[in-house]
Amino acid sequence: MNIHEYQAKELLAKYGVAVLKGGVAWTPDEAARVAASLPGPVYVVKAQIHAGGRGKGRFAGDASGKGGVRLARSIDEVAAEAGAMIGKVLVTAQTGPAGKKVQRVYVEDGCEIARELYLGMLIDRGTGRVVVMASTEGGVEIEEVAAAHPERILRAVVDPVVGLQPFQGRRLAFGLGLAGRQVGSFVAFVTAMYRAFTELDCGIVEINPLVVTRAGEVVALDAKVAFDDNALFRHPDVAALRDETEMDPKELEAGRHDLNYVALDGNIGCMVNGAGLAMATMDIIKLYGGEPANFLDVGGGATKERVAAAFKIILSDPKVEGILVNIFGGIMRCDVIAEGVVAAAREVSLNVPLVVRLEGTNVELGKKILAASGLPIVSADNLADAAEKIVREVKKAA
Ligand code: ADP
Ligand code: MG
Repeated sequence: MNIHEYQAKELLAKYGVAVLKGGVAWTPDEAARVAASLPGPVYVVKAQIHAGGRGKGRFAGDASGKGGVRLARSIDEVAAEAGAMIGKVLVTAQTGPAGKKVQRVYVEDGCEIARELYLGMLIDRGTGRVVVMASTEGGVEIEEVAAAHPERILRAVVDPVVGLQPFQGRRLAFGLGLAGRQVGSFVAFVTAMYRAFTELDCGIVEINPLVVTRAGEVVALDAKVAFDDNALFRHPDVAALRDETEMDPKELEAGRHDLNYVALDGNIGCMVNGAGLAMATMDIIKLYGGEPANFLDVGGGATKERVAAAFKIILSDPKVEGILVNIFGGIMRCDVIAEGVVAAAREVSLNVPLVVRLEGTNVELGKKILAASGLPIVSADNLADAAEKIVREVKKAA
């Protein structure tokens, strides 16, 4: 789960991570009130969307050439900039061409920047540990730095038993060219950030840029925090920060039915039980020249209702031109699954080709139910057969 910058900063501040003063605003008036409570005299108004690259982004239909991070030199200017952004669609390198509608802005104290650095933490699946990454190239996508100047990325791998050690923080600080009391500020910053990362069960915490101010302070100017969804039940206060307007509506609906759904770009909808089988199904669709429209694991104990919900979600995607159902009746019997598929196909008045591959307990009975339904369901005998058939059917229909 992702959260907004202002929410990330509030959370991190509770752990002692240095951030600037600021507050969220939903209207220009509110933005002016927040600004009036800040030291000033320079303010920054920042569009709050779940995507980075806001500074270099552009508002749809706005010829001013200004992005989603704007400087304001008075309280009136804060209100004006907030008014220019709220309700408008911001397009950045990370939003895709459709952009995202800005519903709230963060009004923050303006800061005099001496240096922009990068600091990130994530779980490295290779070592199974939290890795701290730091770079002198702040404000730039870390992937770009990794591609062009891999040697400019410093790393520290944290031993989970002892946690991030002060010497690791100092080593990073020196590597970033920090000196004097900046070193201590940086070590305190990264230590607090690590505590937030582990205690809140984060997947990523990224501060880009981390800045050294003219006054020599080390503070977070931007903050991206993503949480491990499987640990959210331990943090109801964090779960409450979810902004559903930022999520794919199909993924949101899937979550309500306990379905593991990920929207993709292709045209073949997939309904599979088991994540491994779902991955294999997507692979084999590609092998036969098709493109999956989604990943969907209906789970081992898929009921008729769940199958119907999954069908509706798949079909609500206008890109879907055919559906492949690939279910292994292990925990469930194939006849029950077949009944669910038939009922769902009737209920949603299916209008695209549907290929079903069933295997496992009571498979013969399941196939009979599909055949007797009178629905234009194409039955397949194995995974390869199923993939070949759905790719062919979709081409035929087009
Ligand atoms: P994004 O990464 O989405 O573009 P950032 O929060 O990183 O958004 O802001 C982009 C740039 O705007 C920063 O790299 C920094 O130069 C500037 N900036 C952001 N917040 C402030 C601030 N409070 N004071 C001064 N400059 C800021
Ligand atoms: Mg940034």
